[in-house]
Amino acid sequence: MDIARQMAKGGCTEGTNVVAARQHAGRGRLSRVWLSPEGSVSMSVVLFPELNRLSHLVMIAGVAVVEALESFTGVSPALKWPNDIIIRGLKLGGILVESGTVSERRYAVIGIGLNVNVTIGDYPEIAGIATSLFDITGKNFRETEVSRSIVRSLEHYYRGIDNSEIFQRWRSRLDTIDRRVTVETGGNHIEGIARDVNPDGSLIIRSDDGIDHQVFAGDIWLRSLA
Ligand code: ATP
Repeated sequence: MDIARQMAKGGCTEGTNVVAARQHAGRGRLSRVWLSPEGSVSMSVVLFPELNRLSHLVMIAGVAVVEALESFTGVSPALKWPNDIIIRGLKLGGILVESGTVSERRYAVIGIGLNVNVTIGDYPEIAGIATSLFDITGKNFRETEVSRSIVRSLEHYYRGIDNSEIFQRWRSRLDTIDRRVTVETGGNHIEGIARDVNPDGSLIIRSDDGIDHQVFAGDIWLRSLA
């Protein structure tokens, strides 16, 4: 992510893809630690999006990754709002979008971390919450093929599919809707049913007193309760 950001600031070509063979300081949202064991795919793609595309990048990335994985692994992951790629409730990967401006030009870096040829049981920190393509299929995949196929899929959705269509596809892939969830945002705590998502990507949670709360991905922590 850091190298890709430097390249974006230096005016690299849109679509530049930085792939890490190893990561020693992978990060998730809110500076949480992202482990990248050997056999995982860690990639960051530089884009220069229009402003109205920015909040859709996490949707574009989610749909692109899921559809790329489906096409060559046969497994069909779902998305957990806002940015996890999951299978059977376990986390296969994560998406991180960071953005900024340089000389008034907006850039974004889409980071994708995927557990590919990883035996999750070897990593006690994430055993129980994570899974990998290897754990699910018993097969190894070429890491370069995985990243190449994801870049192709990203390009297709970024260039060819408009915001409303991408929103519908993202929404249909979300595993979070209709589940009982709890979110923490700052000191507040909201528990209820995840009713739907808005086109801006925010989640609507109906608490037990019947009030709808709109939550944004920025600073929240979401847990599925059932
Ligand atoms: P959560 O999954 O709890 O909703 P999040 O989506 O907010 O978290 P991310 O920023 O996507 O968090 O990822 C960071 C979290 O993911 C870490 O706190 C850790 O629990 C978990 N994690 C770290 N490395 C991996 C990995 N390789 N595979 C799966 N999960 C991981």
